[in-house]
Amino acid sequence: MNWINRKIKKSNEILRVDKKMSNNTTKKAINFLSFLTSYKCTNECKHCALLASPNQDDIKIEFGDLKRYLEDITSNYIVQEVGFFGGEPLLNFDLLISFIEEVKKYDIPKIGLPTNGYWGKKDSIAKEYALKLKKAGLNSIGFSVDAFHQEFIPLDDVKNAVRACHEAGIEIIYLISQNLGGPGAKNTFNEKTKEITDILSDEFDYYQLITGDLQVKGRAANHLTEYFSMETIPSDKCLIFKVPMFMIDPNGWVFHQLCQGITIGNAKKKPLSEIISEFNYRKHPIIGKVVAKGGPQNLLEMAIEKGYKPLSGYADKCHICSSARNFLRPYYPNILEPSNLYL
Ligand code: SF4
Repeated sequence: MNWINRKIKKSNEILRVDKKMSNNTTKKAINFLSFLTSYKCTNECKHCALLASPNQDDIKIEFGDLKRYLEDITSNYIVQEVGFFGGEPLLNFDLLISFIEEVKKYDIPKIGLPTNGYWGKKDSIAKEYALKLKKAGLNSIGFSVDAFHQEFIPLDDVKNAVRACHEAGIEIIYLISQNLGGPGAKNTFNEKTKEITDILSDEFDYYQLITGDLQVKGRAANHLTEYFSMETIPSDKCLIFKVPMFMIDPNGWVFHQLCQGITIGNAKKKPLSEIISEFNYRKHPIIGKVVAKGGPQNLLEMAIEKGYKPLSGYADKCHICSSARNFLRPYYPNILEPSNLYL
């Protein structure tokens, strides 16, 4: 089971629980609400769907915005889990701590984030950061470890950060890695990733490993298609939108948690709870196409009608989707946003 399916399965389980909870109140449930704190990162990984990089603008979610989003959403929905994403969320450490403390006030059961672990370079900093994260209320942390990330971050730094989080008492520690080229594909990236996860499993026994198949969107569409057969035009539907999981970026754009660049509104212009309550994925001009029969092929046809020259094959459905959306972007202002997510 890949990472997305695992997340959807888990979310469906949570959704059933949430529906029971919702019966006791008038509020509906949101499984997962996440904040994309900034697009800036220490790395420029070849596979990054968010095109995160040290060169991205240093625009961050503002504390006042986060406070407003939380007040609004928790007044109208039950939120099971909040996550802080990037880029690298720990690059703005003090702001991140203030965000976690704010979320903690709302009794949301799970607060987590993924990190590349760059901050484990010095033991003293790793310990200080881990203790502050725990004290603020973080109870789940994921470390991205694979051949892509370890081109930039020495594994020893990640180990220090993992160890510090365990010692600080952060309850759930994930290691998150990605396979390239589909299940069981043999290539240098997957071999390197296996070496990395083997080293970590020899050293630690208190983490959960999450492995997923890389989807070809963002930077992967430019750098990694040679690892796929590129012989077919997949026609499977996109399933992610069935699960209510939302992400808000520094400019207020609201996306599905698992796919950024297709917006359902802007929370700086309209209350987040209204955007979410009015969202009907089947009626959305782009999402409605990718969830319909034929999946992202429907976007491909729309792009071809407007002059797009298709490839003879695509790596996966996300590759079709993101290639077509790159072309269609000028036709869908305020929907195919923000510009920094497009090539
Ligand atoms: S098919 Fe399109 S909408 Fe679905 S996850 Fe892939 S890129 Fe996102």
